[in-house]
Amino acid sequence: MLMTEQSQMIKEIAGKIAREKIAPRAQEVDEKGETPWENIRLLAENGFFGIDVPEEYGGVGSDTAAHVSVVEEIAAACASTSVALSTQALTITPFLLAGTEEQKKKYVVPLATGDVLGSFGITEPGAGSDVSSIQTRAVKEDNGYRLNGHKIFITNAGDSEIYVIVARTSEERTNGISLFIVEKGTSGFSFGKKENKMGIRGSVTRELFLEDVFVPQENLLGGEGEGFKILMNVFNITRPVVGAQATGIAKGAYEYCLEYVKERKQFGKPIQHFQMVQSTLADMAMKVEASRLLVQKAAMMLDQNDEDVIAYSSMAKCFASDTAMQVTTDAVQLLGGNGFIKDYPVERMMRDAKITQIYEGTNQIQRIIIAKQILAD
Ligand SMILES: Cc1cc2nc3c(=O)[nH]c(=O)nc-3n(C[C@H](O)[C@H](O)[C@H](O)COP(=O)(O)OP(=O)(O)OC[C@H]3O[C@@H](n4cnc5c(N)ncnc54)[C@H](O)[C@@H]3O)c2cc1C
Repeated sequence: MLMTEQSQMIKEIAGKIAREKIAPRAQEVDEKGETPWENIRLLAENGFFGIDVPEEYGGVGSDTAAHVSVVEEIAAACASTSVALSTQALTITPFLLAGTEEQKKKYVVPLATGDVLGSFGITEPGAGSDVSSIQTRAVKEDNGYRLNGHKIFITNAGDSEIYVIVARTSEERTNGISLFIVEKGTSGFSFGKKENKMGIRGSVTRELFLEDVFVPQENLLGGEGEGFKILMNVFNITRPVVGAQATGIAKGAYEYCLEYVKERKQFGKPIQHFQMVQSTLADMAMKVEASRLLVQKAAMMLDQNDEDVIAYSSMAKCFASDTAMQVTTDAVQLLGGNGFIKDYPVERMMRDAKITQIYEGTNQIQRIIIAKQILAD
């Protein structure tokens, strides 16, 4: 048993809210393509943005195992809504790893309670998988830094109040990267167009522009030149969260199929009686379960400060997201023509699954990390 009694209880509460309140709105969220504020308020009211954040910083003070379970349950109902949870975790984590006490009190508290949303700005037109090639610059001035640059694909941009921006403070490739806190409304900080996406359509993705943005010295997060190292540690902690999101999407599709095959009749009987249908269902069940266990293992290792977690975080993210893609594609197949129609949720789940193989490091990058770790032993 990987979860404590408390984590199990939190998972059950999240599952009930997901099924009763969030799932019924999922199709509408996808069709409208706007931030589902009603769902976000619900997540905030239940403390879901800060499950594993210490109580002194506005969180619930539970563990990573509980946190990933909540993300899985919400993603099973509505992947777009679950992106608010994973992005908030991505924004909070650098503060917990490297923030000063003042920064944690000022920024983590409103993020963990869900009073405001946060975003993490890494990606640029010329820097995706290769983070160390970013061009956004931060130049030292009296009492602070002046930032100039262009970020793309930033989740919740425009909706968020707090931004962690990755910028270059020197020409050194990795040691020249630093993190800065930029608040919405800062002069010179603006947002570009909203992307028209394949999936997670209820999650906003936008460009960021930084034109002579001044931030005071106290908005440097971690030491100057420590940004890359912090970032890699952030990803080790947040990749299992994306794994949980992927597991949730797969679970949603699998559970929908379980009911469908009992109702749908062909050749005079429910299709659940055909061996090929059973075989597909068995594969789906195995993969969902294996994804969950891998995500929970990585979560447990994080809770125990196990140094070997790097490979497991990447395995959890990579395996669960490949699973989400396979299982949702199988789900569409099992529903036949209905699977291809928007009145049924599995086509949305298949579109939503794809991004989990791409963001927070593509699955090719995860395989590179895993190989590096296992060959180093
Ligand atoms: C909906 C959405 C939300 C996002 N949210 C955020 C966000 O909030 N903040 C943020 O900073 N970014 C965000 N991103 C960006 C995301 O993290 C990047 O898109 C992702 O890391 C891949 O970078 P890229 O798109 O530049 O692809 P590229 O790096 O150009 O990769 C293209 C292809 O080449 C492969 N490739 C690259 N390098 C290697 C290599 N060394 N070996 C093998 N294959 C390789 C990749 O795996 C991929 O298949 C988001 C993206 C999307 C689409």
